Amino acid sequence: PFELKGRSVYVAGHRGMVGSALVRRLAGEDVKLVTADRREVDLCNQAAVFDWFAKVRPQVVFLAAAKVGGIVANNTLRAEFIYDNIAIAANVIHAAHRNGAEKLMFLGSSCIYPKLAPQPLREESVLTGPLEPTNEPYAIAKIAGIKIAEAYRSQYGCDFISVMPTNLYGPGDNYHPEMSHVVAALIRRFHEAKVSGAKGVVVWGTGTPRREFLYVDDMADACVHLMKTYSGAGLINIGTGEDITIAEFARVVAEVVGYSGEISFDTSRPDGTPRKLLDVSRLAGLGWRATTSLEDGLKRAYAAYQAAQLAAQ
Ligand code: GDP
Repeated sequence: PFELKGRSVYVAGHRGMVGSALVRRLAGEDVKLVTADRREVDLCNQAAVFDWFAKVRPQVVFLAAAKVGGIVANNTLRAEFIYDNIAIAANVIHAAHRNGAEKLMFLGSSCIYPKLAPQPLREESVLTGPLEPTNEPYAIAKIAGIKIAEAYRSQYGCDFISVMPTNLYGPGDNYHPEMSHVVAALIRRFHEAKVSGAKGVVVWGTGTPRREFLYVDDMADACVHLMKTYSGAGLINIGTGEDITIAEFARVVAEVVGYSGEISFDTSRPDGTPRKLLDVSRLAGLGWRATTSLEDGLKRAYAAYQAAQLAAQ
């Protein structure tokens, strides 16, 4: 196993939902945590990243920085999603190698798998077919990140690993009405409908796509577990191994938020990929499983949303 104890650990993207969960999780480890604000180092800027790494030389890197968003953000900001994410991956992985990082974890996404790959999605399915068009730029950038980490492993022997999380949610999520992912979007929409007494809530698409959702603190725990125990070239999926239709999911969110009105579906909105469920048997074989139920996770996410609303007032 790889010891985190006593090492300097850089969380790239510490202000994001995943990065901030990693920071919370690493507080329970005996490490020297390193973070850097965007003003200090813009991860898209090659010179800034190289200078910062040469100065700080972190021993361990969690690469959780990315330009992310829901189906609309991915589909409209296509140039930014491919450029920023390739730049971040290329700059940080190269700089980690050049400055002697002992271990790096690259965080990908389940959207790297082909649209029609067999479900549940196995790690071997990467690059076996065409991608879902709505998030192809993001997926290509994440596949590039995986391949960069793999190339530095094979050419230079770097202990760089890649993990593929399923759809994540929790404190620190982006609640933008158009640009967010479905969990944050529905928490906000059901909450606002409850507060205003609105009669109906509109959910995008047909309600039939299936998605798997992982609470972000479970994700952070899995990342720390894998950082300590896994050193292979192959990808590792991180998820719960269970999925639910968007229609069923909307009912769970309504229940947690306490909204009892009607739910309708706007089929002029995109469904995206029909199903996205990860095969988590590799992860289970490495001794980790998710512990937060969807209901509990949503309760915590909703509490965090309400706390953030109060703080912003
Ligand atoms: P995806 O998993 O990459 O497709 O990303 P999203 O989280 O954006 O969308 C997941 C599914 O939820 C898609 O089928 C969407 O059509 C559906 N969905 C339903 N209502 C909403 C909403 O208000 N916002 C978003 N982003 N998705 C929604």
